[in-house]
Amino acid sequence: MRVLVTGGAGYIGSVIVAALVRRNHEVLVIDNLYKGHRAAVMALAQLLTVDLGNAAAVERSLAEYGVEAVIHMAADSLVGESMQNAAKYFRNNVVNSLLLANAMVATGVRRLVFSSTAAVYGEPETVPIAEDAPLEPTNVYGESKLAFERMLRWYDQVHGLSSIALRYFNAAGAVGDLGEDHDPETHLIPIVLQVPLGKRDAVQLFGTDYPTPDGTCIRDYIHVGDLAEAHVLALDALARGDVPSGAYNLGNGTGYSNRQVIDAARRVTGHAIPAIEAPRRPGDPAALVASSERIRRDLDWQPRVPGIDEIVASAWEWHQRFPNGYPD
Ligand code: UDP
Repeated sequence: MRVLVTGGAGYIGSVIVAALVRRNHEVLVIDNLYKGHRAAVMALAQLLTVDLGNAAAVERSLAEYGVEAVIHMAADSLVGESMQNAAKYFRNNVVNSLLLANAMVATGVRRLVFSSTAAVYGEPETVPIAEDAPLEPTNVYGESKLAFERMLRWYDQVHGLSSIALRYFNAAGAVGDLGEDHDPETHLIPIVLQVPLGKRDAVQLFGTDYPTPDGTCIRDYIHVGDLAEAHVLALDALARGDVPSGAYNLGNGTGYSNRQVIDAARRVTGHAIPAIEAPRRPGDPAALVASSERIRRDLDWQPRVPGIDEIVASAWEWHQRFPNGYPD
């Protein structure tokens, strides 16, 4: 299939591109390289450096390349930043996504896999969280993703655009030469690994008074390779037309507190990794753990690297090989 991956130069997007190319799909990447890395786009994929806000260019690319399906990854994705700049998140995650959906309708592209998030649930009443749990985001990032998910429901009904939203829990780890390189880095696992890499002295624990066993937030970490495979399965299911439009959670079903993640990194790296207690970060729910039963059942998705130590070890291996990340 000819597949467009928006944001395909980003951390998760680049691993998805690699997975698609391995399956002999032809891949076009659209990325404005605002956060993505040119070097992360495999030589086999074509990269167009275009902003999704440039609707005319996006529509032209869909038509000229003969795109048959889209995986939409391009977005801003930081909870903390979203609570300081709501406008940026609604513009990039809602308005630009809408422009993309309209370009798809205009060019007759009717299959979309959308990168969504566990943040659509907000503070869950029960964990693990199933897809039919209440959707009440506690931050702008989650709200912006939910807004587009809701639009997609109507685009299916009104415009015949089938879509699968994948609600990621916490992506981590690396696949081959593709790993996590954000600037600035805000995610827990790469920040923790900066200590044994000699790039910071200690890690801050944002909030130690949450209603969890050790007082720190609990998250469900999923290996980026397992996440990428789910996109390939979702794309195949849309192509076969054998699942209705909808949403799937993607996590391992096991939660680890921030302290437990640091402990895993201590085991994996053999470094003491000092932790300093710090105030809460606005918008953080206390615990997010997925039930991924639906995607296991419907798409036969099976995580290959479910353990936290293996996930952290995979990230550690990449950061040791590429201590300065990507060249650009
Ligand atoms: N966190 C932390 N110190 C850091 C970075 C993150 O304590 O330097 C916490 C953060 O507040 C949250 C958890 O780690 O409770 C996971 O945050 P991350 O940004 O990695 O992912 P998110 O769950 O926000 O998508």
